Amino acid sequence: MSDRFTVLVTGGAGYIGSHAVLALHDAGWPVAVIDNLVTGFRWAVPDDVPFYEGNIADAALIAKIVTEQNIGAVMHFAGSVVVPESVENPLKYYDNNSARSRSLIEAVIANKVPHFIFSSTAATYGIPEVSPVREDTPQVPINPYGMSKLMTEHMLRDVSAAHDMNFCALRYFNVAGADPQARSGQSTIGATHLLKVAVEAALGKRDSVAIFGTDYDTADGTGVRDYIHVSDLAAAHVLALDALIADPTQSHFLNCGYGRGFSVLEVLDAVDRVTNLKINRKMEGRRAGDPDSLISDNGAIMDRFPWKPQYADLDQIVTHALAWERKLGDIQQEQSA
Ligand code: UDP
Repeated sequence: MSDRFTVLVTGGAGYIGSHAVLALHDAGWPVAVIDNLVTGFRWAVPDDVPFYEGNIADAALIAKIVTEQNIGAVMHFAGSVVVPESVENPLKYYDNNSARSRSLIEAVIANKVPHFIFSSTAATYGIPEVSPVREDTPQVPINPYGMSKLMTEHMLRDVSAAHDMNFCALRYFNVAGADPQARSGQSTIGATHLLKVAVEAALGKRDSVAIFGTDYDTADGTGVRDYIHVSDLAAAHVLALDALIADPTQSHFLNCGYGRGFSVLEVLDAVDRVTNLKINRKMEGRRAGDPDSLISDNGAIMDRFPWKPQYADLDQIVTHALAWERKLGDIQQEQSA
């Protein structure tokens, strides 16, 4: 592996980025991380991975890292991810997600880094008219978060046409679960995602889980999503890197999901089943901007990459999320001691 270049992971101290670091590390890739630690955690990055605390828009810092670490690819996760916050504070999202990505891409081109992998989102589709959603479904985001990510997709498309750089934009569906060995997991304070909220409730960290809407056009009336295990998602990034290296003339926009959905009630039932408890459920009204159902068509990624999801079973996703939530309690106690 000594002839391999190093992969720079931006946002490598965050939820998905830290799992990508583990997947690259496990696959024998040298890795370095840049993270500003606004939402990420230093402890989420293994001790033997070079770590730079800083801003991805700092061109001098990126140039220094590329030289010091022999960077040959960037995996870009750094950014802001809370949809309602993006509605309240759109300029934060157009700065953190669009403007800083633009600066990072400029530094990548200036320093002749040939490959770029981007953390995009199904939120770029908005409320799609078809299900499952294919990559050529019109992208009409309904919030600044989705728009800020779509802008970066467009920048990558245009920049790769003009310069020697190819890219893969992976559009994530609902990312959930945690590293099977509990080395990392969803650690965000005040997280709002369904499974995270549900495991917090199961462990007594919250009193109940709100069910946002029971009158959707789905089998049981609650929202349906395509939940993908974060480690399967991380594995897809390593395969994307292999593909970009194998054919530098090709770039990719690919959905990342399993192509099947679970309703809110099915997710809560799974948590009850795995814990042998009954979480308190509170029926509430719809949350603004939630589509009835969001399921990926994953035919393209299945065709192009030898991607073999290992953790698609919902109970397994719940089991890993729970194991991490327990461990996180211990880590938080240690950190505050
Ligand atoms: N949801 C819910 N209660 C919660 C959080 C989410 O009922 O506390 C529902 C939400 O309306 C959607 C699904 O669970 O149908 C997934 O929402 P989440 O926020 O996890 O992800 P999103 O699909 O919005 O990215």
